[in-house]
Amino acid sequence: MLYSKLAEFYNKAGNTAKRLEKIEILSHFLKEIPEKNKDIIYLLLGEIYPEYDERRIGISSQLAIKAISKATGTEEAGVLHEWKEIGDLGKVAEKLTEKKKQATLQRHVLTTEKVLENLRKLPSLEGKGTVEKKLSLIVELLTSANPIEALYLVRTLIGDLRIGVKESTIRDSMAVTFFSDKKEAIKKLQDAIDKTNDIASVFEILKTGKIKQLNVLELEIGKPIKVMLAQKAKNIKDGFERVGKPCAIEYKYDGFRLEIHKNKNQIILFTRRLENVTRQFPEVIDYIKRYVKGDSFIIDSEAVGFDRKTREYKPFQEISQRIRRKYDIEKLQEELPVEVNVFDIIYYNGKSMLNAPFGKRTELLRKIIKNEPYKIIHAKQIITSDEKEADKFYKKALHDNQEGIMFKNLQAIYQPGSRVGNMLKMKPEERDLDLVITGGEYGTGKRSGWLSSYILSCKDDSTGKFLEIGKVGTGIKEKATEGGNEDISFNELTEKLRPYFLEEKGKTVKIKPKIVVAVTYQEIQNSPNYNSGFALRFPRFTALRPDKSPDDISTLKEIKKDFEGQKRNWKYG
Ligand code: AMP
Repeated sequence: MLYSKLAEFYNKAGNTAKRLEKIEILSHFLKEIPEKNKDIIYLLLGEIYPEYDERRIGISSQLAIKAISKATGTEEAGVLHEWKEIGDLGKVAEKLTEKKKQATLQRHVLTTEKVLENLRKLPSLEGKGTVEKKLSLIVELLTSANPIEALYLVRTLIGDLRIGVKESTIRDSMAVTFFSDKKEAIKKLQDAIDKTNDIASVFEILKTGKIKQLNVLELEIGKPIKVMLAQKAKNIKDGFERVGKPCAIEYKYDGFRLEIHKNKNQIILFTRRLENVTRQFPEVIDYIKRYVKGDSFIIDSEAVGFDRKTREYKPFQEISQRIRRKYDIEKLQEELPVEVNVFDIIYYNGKSMLNAPFGKRTELLRKIIKNEPYKIIHAKQIITSDEKEADKFYKKALHDNQEGIMFKNLQAIYQPGSRVGNMLKMKPEERDLDLVITGGEYGTGKRSGWLSSYILSCKDDSTGKFLEIGKVGTGIKEKATEGGNEDISFNELTEKLRPYFLEEKGKTVKIKPKIVVAVTYQEIQNSPNYNSGFALRFPRFTALRPDKSPDDISTLKEIKKDFEGQKRNWKYG
């Protein structure tokens, strides 16, 4: 397909904020995509591979600037200048390509196949000369692009497509395009997307007219699926009211999520962001082999750190380095051991468990896991209708250094990727949030050269936009010290953020929402200073959350709730 057709679609979809209109526009476009071109669906989402695949485009703004400079024959300083003026690198590419077009008439026709071919080479490049190779792949595309194509190519490269098309938009458009009963179709399609975690392959089935094939799709071991997420319960009464009585109540462990796949002798571990971390946890592989029965399965769990000597559980921050570190694994395993707490099962011995009620799933776990404390256990759980018993269990969880409890509806199915109302989390009257950094300010004096204050944003769940809610500068160290301390310095945090800088004006920087941090605060206030309408009082940085994506952060709705709850507390003491 011609890339110009896709660019035209991006433009149309980006020009309306109305969801139904987007669906309509997309539905027309889906009809035009040829059967063999299902991969265009990835491009619609600004991606090049299915969600379960770890390969991402990953081009920094800096490299994009270099490429625009080369392709349009503009000095890098000139591109930077335009960027500061316009604030959108895509638009800069559009403008400069327009200018160049007037000077030369040479242009190859760009197809979506060619764009994908080049973009897909990017993630696998390694070693010497990588930057040059990447640059030449990008420049090749940009020199063939017309202005509007250049705009969307650059936005795709830096991961900021800005057309408001999500997986659910495509799902709903497919329902409109290929089915008569839209509501029924959405359910069917969601099930197919959950099982494949690859919306393009679902599209392909529809396009070839073999709709019946949707019914036989199955989960595939080794291909991670999105994990189910929880909503918040205000208190024990609220928890019971929302998930029903009796329900399962479990410890909410303060660790990180591990989705564990086993197929005969092969075991693969994924984080909640579906990154493969198998190599980082050799001991977990061993526990799975020894203490979990079954030829093939997918189980869902939380790994928690503990102190080998005192046997006390440790907070997540103290073990977070185990997720990323790729060297000294044995040493780290010795120093920062983890216990795996299994709380769900998604697939067992050839059969999907997605549609089995939680009560059945948890029963199965009880049968197949041999509890070995400090290695692997079935998450601590009670099944009860009694508030007093629940309260006792909650206090015990806190006493054991865990975050709180989870309420689980015993009839509920497993819904990948959804924040569902039949699994609730309850933590102490908490004052902490997970937020994403969307900006910063350069410091002065001894802090000059790096960002010393960071703008934090939450997510507006109704629009998907990130809204600012405050600035944080405390809880971060002046200097990086030697040793395995996980605390981060201004310098280190700035370097982590630098690849995502979108725009620099004077001392302030706009940053692409990528890096998620945990922040504590004393109070939420109404505030006209931030576009969320709220501000945090005394925010303090507590940890990086590399295991969380910007889609997982605290939502405006949750913050409003916290704010309301806080008011009630003031009122009633
Ligand atoms: P939050 O990260 O605050 O949204 O809380 C939800 C997270 O709690 C899940 O994504 C899991 O990583 C974690 N978790 C800990 N214990 C459990 C449990 N027993 N059941 C489900 N999730 C749990």
